[in-house]
Amino acid sequence: MKFLSVIGDPISHSKSPRMHNNAIKALGLDGIYTRYHLKNANLLREKIFELGFSGVNITLPFKEKALELADVKDDFAQNIGSANTLCVKENKIYAYNTDALGFLEAIREFKGIEKALILGAGGTALALAYALREKGIKVCIANRSQERLKEFSAYEAYLYENLKDFDFDLVVNATSAGLRDENLPCDKELLDRILARSKFAFEVIYGKETPFLTLCKNYNLKTKDGLDMLLWQGVFAFEFFFDTYNQREPIKNAMWQALRVE
Ligand code: NDP
Repeated sequence: MKFLSVIGDPISHSKSPRMHNNAIKALGLDGIYTRYHLKNANLLREKIFELGFSGVNITLPFKEKALELADVKDDFAQNIGSANTLCVKENKIYAYNTDALGFLEAIREFKGIEKALILGAGGTALALAYALREKGIKVCIANRSQERLKEFSAYEAYLYENLKDFDFDLVVNATSAGLRDENLPCDKELLDRILARSKFAFEVIYGKETPFLTLCKNYNLKTKDGLDMLLWQGVFAFEFFFDTYNQREPIKNAMWQALRVE
């Protein structure tokens, strides 16, 4: 039997147990997926082995630590600098980043993107920037403060007030503005200028319509929130956990069904 878990701090809000257990049930696999509240990042590797997990999803604030402790790191995770999925095989930990893969799958229906603007410079922005660049898309980053822009030396990266280019096919809100407040990620005037010229918008937050998403809809952009990204990161993690590579549709359907239950 496979013993799986999501690990983070906090963890009670995570939808992963419901998603994965529903997929395990739908496919008739032998496994169970739980949640584990960890406070000390330094205990992560030790706890994975001690509790006998064969795979774990890692959420905030341990995604960088998850990559660091792994024995084998896939290229995506290595280049992004964080991992959200760890598999244990023969006493070795393998690290993957399915957030980035999930994001690419979620925006698959956005066709013909050549230039993208990512708002925010956190861990999620880093993963999405790398994923887009891998697809040959030119990526520009903008953030409200300087400190975290340093991690984006491989990209064009600006403070909002220094942004000089306003032409992007896709605009992504990768900040947490709008998550627990009603804020836009930056000045409305700047967004007005950008959104009036773009075609697609993606909001990483899910479960509520943020002010960013509302504004994008006002400009008649094709929009998506972060729910599909959450769904697909789960599907790809599940495939790594169970080595199932030809059952994507039933896994996706089972996880989708789990997400729809309040
Ligand atoms: P981080 O804390 O690493 O980064 C947050 C970023 O948002 C920083 O650039 C920060 O700017 C900026 N920011 C925060 N608050 C505001 C604000 N009020 N106005 C403008 N900018 C702000 O967070 P993550 O990258 O880990 O996560 C970002 C978001 O992505 C979260 O909302 C999270 O829930 C979501 N997410 C969604 C996933 C999904 O599956 N859909 C998966 C993972 C994350 P500064 O540098 O100046 O502090």
